[in-house]
Amino acid sequence: MGYSRGWKRKVAPKKKRLVRPPKTRKPRQKGAWKAAGGDWDDFSYDRRERVASSAERERRQQVVQETERAWLGTPQREYRSSAEAGLFGVVTSVYGSRYTVDVAGDSVQCHIRDSLKSQETGFVNPVAVGDRVCFSDDGAGGFAIDELLERDSFLTRPDSFKGHLRQIVAANVDQLLIVSSWRQPAMWTELIDRYLVTADVHDLDPVLCVTKADLVERDGRLGDALAPYRDLGCSIVVTSVESGEGVEELRERLSGKSTVLSGLSGVGKSSLLNAIEPGLGLRIGEISAWRGRDQGRHTTTRAVLLRIDGSTTVVDTPGIREWGISGLTRPELWHFFPEIEHEAGGCKFTDCRHIEEPGCAVAAAAEDGRIDAERYYSYTAIYDSLPESIPTW
Ligand code: GDP
Ligand code: ZN
Repeated sequence: MGYSRGWKRKVAPKKKRLVRPPKTRKPRQKGAWKAAGGDWDDFSYDRRERVASSAERERRQQVVQETERAWLGTPQREYRSSAEAGLFGVVTSVYGSRYTVDVAGDSVQCHIRDSLKSQETGFVNPVAVGDRVCFSDDGAGGFAIDELLERDSFLTRPDSFKGHLRQIVAANVDQLLIVSSWRQPAMWTELIDRYLVTADVHDLDPVLCVTKADLVERDGRLGDALAPYRDLGCSIVVTSVESGEGVEELRERLSGKSTVLSGLSGVGKSSLLNAIEPGLGLRIGEISAWRGRDQGRHTTTRAVLLRIDGSTTVVDTPGIREWGISGLTRPELWHFFPEIEHEAGGCKFTDCRHIEEPGCAVAAAAEDGRIDAERYYSYTAIYDSLPESIPTW
């Protein structure tokens, strides 16, 4: 296949441009994505009506509360005396203007200085989960974040309210764990492909985790479904919390790293985290709660940082529709599908988009099975959801 170098190919010049915060761009006009053909709210997730139900919202709220309770073991006042000199910590959750900051295993509630709020960063949120910050006594009985340390990496998505702007979901993360159940709900390859592109755009290592392996049929369909990802050199872990399969392997994959968890609600993220670290005590949700498509359209999209051990952290993200791919345009997309890039040299036109052009070698390869038909379908579906260009007016 020629992908033995692994998932990460070198399309660096393009990617460099893609991940740079749009600092130098003029503010985009509201509705610009729509004018450009993109509509984050209506992209293909709607087809299957997989949105957060009120039960999912409740569950997430509880996860956040439980987490905060666990982190809030140390009374706030203990920090008061030592805070004058300024303290260093990591943001573990953000709720409105309230930031929970972890300081060597204890939590402190902070707000942020106005000077940080007003800085032009190109993102809707000035400080995100995973950010390393300095904070100090605010002189009014509380604590304030004064400074944001440089980020090694970050994951963004289009803001759920202002789709033309980007929101940082998590900062300083190493890898993206793409969690998909085999059944209940059934594995959804288009979503996996979206996350793979997202990981690549942000230079994060993707790990595909297929859960509920105890529900795998004996006819080998899981192997067939995973074959395209194996061919791409993607890391894959197959797990079941029922049988314990793969849990240890996953623990090792997470160890010493900061990982963002992604995946639909109900795929088993909380169950897996509990299996890896029972001390987290996360509540396990119900999967039968899917409702109409308008449910949860504007739910809060809070990420929470959980600590598994001293050097291992996991950022749990809401598993809902807001996962558009930010900062990527239609003409660039094919560079994020290695197998398409591999065939593209044979296309009749050098500017081929590999959609419906005559003489497209990629479409031909998808016809005769050299490119996996589902992957090609994902490519076309993601293509449809992207804007033609990033508006610069
Ligand atoms: P989350 O929304 O992704 O955090 O998913 P949960 O961990 O809350 O799990 C959703 C449902 O899937 C619950 O009913 C779990 O009991 C069930 N579940 C989780 N993991 C497994 C598994 O490995 N096998 C089976 N059969 N069910 C699982
Ligand atoms: Zn082509």
